[in-house]
Amino acid sequence: MSLDWLIIGGGIHGVHIAARLLADAEISPDKLRIVDPGNRLLACWRRCAAATGMTHLRSSSAHHLGIDHTALRKFAGKQKSRKPGHFAVPYTRPSLSLFNDHCDHVEKSFGLSELHIQQRAVQCVAHADKVEVLLDDGRSVDTRHLVLAIGASEQPTWPAWAPRNHAEVHHIFDPDFDDWPSKGETVMVVGGGISAAHMALRLIKEGHQVHLVSRHAMRQHRFDSDPAWLGWKYTATFTQTQVPEERRAIITEARHTGSVPPEVASALRRAIGRKQLVWHEGEISQCVDRTDGLEVHINQDSTVHVNRILLATGFDSQRPGGQMIDELIASASLACACCGYPIIDSHLRWHPRIYVSGPLAELELGPISRNIAGAQRAGERIVEAARSKSVAINCV
Ligand SMILES: Cc1cc2nc3c(=O)[nH]c(=O)nc-3n(C[C@H](O)[C@H](O)[C@H](O)COP(=O)(O)OP(=O)(O)OC[C@H]3O[C@@H](n4cnc5c(N)ncnc54)[C@H](O)[C@@H]3O)c2cc1C
Repeated sequence: MSLDWLIIGGGIHGVHIAARLLADAEISPDKLRIVDPGNRLLACWRRCAAATGMTHLRSSSAHHLGIDHTALRKFAGKQKSRKPGHFAVPYTRPSLSLFNDHCDHVEKSFGLSELHIQQRAVQCVAHADKVEVLLDDGRSVDTRHLVLAIGASEQPTWPAWAPRNHAEVHHIFDPDFDDWPSKGETVMVVGGGISAAHMALRLIKEGHQVHLVSRHAMRQHRFDSDPAWLGWKYTATFTQTQVPEERRAIITEARHTGSVPPEVASALRRAIGRKQLVWHEGEISQCVDRTDGLEVHINQDSTVHVNRILLATGFDSQRPGGQMIDELIASASLACACCGYPIIDSHLRWHPRIYVSGPLAELELGPISRNIAGAQRAGERIVEAARSKSVAINCV
């Protein structure tokens, strides 16, 4: 198979970039494909979002996978049968079901499921005139341009103290996690961010007694970075910073990791007040198997007995992509910063034929890069590059 564009990763980023290339760069659908091992596009997103029990997104209705800025709001307006409550105040945040239905709508409008190759890419080799991508069924695909949209959701963070392959200890973002607590259990949720908070509130609603262990006190922020990062002011200063290590420091400072928005913080405080939730601030040192459950040691001086532990500890911060990306870097001499992340140009190009998005584009797009807004920015930049290429080719 020979393509113009191949996108590795069919998550929020890969799907939006595909839609953009088809809509705005006039790429022909028979010349574009998305490789992703999921049984459908966005399978990872749907699984992770559903696991938390979140009802609404944290971001506003301007952040979606469609093309036009107002597409999600217009789509909601046409859903006459939908019950009220599909936007939460403030910032008209869409319900998860509305957002997912709109994702389906985008997929359908652009015929993206027909462009999905359900495989894992295992090797990428850059040549002067193409990139050759080997799939895990042994097939090989040649493409003129490659987009690496591989995200971080395949690398859930697993704390050192947490036993692996234990029937009562799970990471909520683990693809195999489907073992939901039965009625009336005592459950420990580990993590101090929005996923842990949603998970704890969901468990309380379902009648469980919940302990939440966070390394820090409750941190309250409306968004996971200041919305000013969506405008020119912060991004201009970021782009003027030439040293990648300084950019990494700005990103680390700007991201409100482990934080929850005000209404979630209030719900947690209410649950603590009603004694449905115990908030433990500290570090877990040990987890011991007992006949009647799990004994968890916190801060060396406190012990809690629970039936089950659910890890909501997010994703590892290391560069995603594993061996495939390590080998690509070595074979094509691709530039990386000390943090291991790509050094790319303003079109998110890591190589004349290879583009990146999501975490891999962070050193160019800044703290919003991993989010839906980051997918939108990546789409704009890659389309700009695709258009300038087609103009250049048409002029020859
Ligand atoms: C619970 C939750 C709620 C969130 N809420 C919001 C929100 O409200 N607003 C917001 O802006 N952001 C939110 N985010 C953050 C962000 O938008 C998501 O994490 C987003 O899903 C990232 O998309 P992605 O495409 O970069 O990565 P992923 O979702 O990780 O998708 C990447 C895909 O690439 C595939 N892949 C990886 N390696 C290969 C390979 N070698 N070959 C083929 N395929 C491969 C993976 O299987 C995966 O399907 C949330 C995240 C989570 C987890």
